[in-house]
Amino acid sequence: MRCIGLLGGMSWESTAVYYRRLNEVVRDRFGGLQSASILMRSVNFADIVALQKAGQWDKAAEILAADARALEDAGADCILICTNTMHILADAIQAAISIPLLHIADTTGEALRAAGAKKPLLLATRYTMEQAFYRDRLAQKYGIEAVVPAEADRGLVHDVIFEELCCGVVKETSRAAYLDIIARAGGDIDCVILGCTEIGLLLDQACVPLKVFDTTLIHADAAVDFATGAARAEPAGAERSFALESAVG
Ligand code: GLU
Repeated sequence: MRCIGLLGGMSWESTAVYYRRLNEVVRDRFGGLQSASILMRSVNFADIVALQKAGQWDKAAEILAADARALEDAGADCILICTNTMHILADAIQAAISIPLLHIADTTGEALRAAGAKKPLLLATRYTMEQAFYRDRLAQKYGIEAVVPAEADRGLVHDVIFEELCCGVVKETSRAAYLDIIARAGGDIDCVILGCTEIGLLLDQACVPLKVFDTTLIHADAAVDFATGAARAEPAGAERSFALESAVG
């Protein structure tokens, strides 16, 4: 089995979900005592958030690229950045390593395409909702036009992520507020992307009336596919940056 390298801690609340999901999927697929081979670097999220707020993305890229290199040197066969937002730096991080970075927008785009979903509402941090790196990738590679909430709603979604979910706080009032935003999103929305790795702590398929794509779970499942060489059915033209081969054992 190949070793999965996690750039985690952004926040650790969602990295814990990754860790559990990776191991549960391996156990479900292979049974017994099989578990995932994982290396993790978990950062101090306060340092990263300070750089985000200061707009010092270059400095954040230096830190995460060095961490990705360290994971590669330690034996990781791929890298997952365990946050949608920090995929702003995906190109810089990929350039620093020779193992593949499994991009969360790609794993999400592939999941939507496989399900025939075309017009998602994207709930995420302001960085992910408002900057081009994520929505453009979905549009250009997968033909998916992600819609984002209105300005005030984007502020609410962002604040709940940083002030509550990343601090381990899950409030019923915030769940209701998110569901209200989804309800007001408009008739042509056909699904919801939980485009922040903590939103799955607040929403899941059981409480959302539209099809939900939880980026954390999708990303982790794709990493297990990579690690175990499980060939998934790929729609024609789908790009894969890694070769799939049998790797369990
Ligand atoms: N985990 C979040 C995400 O998926 C937000 C934390 C961050 O800013 O990295 O975007």
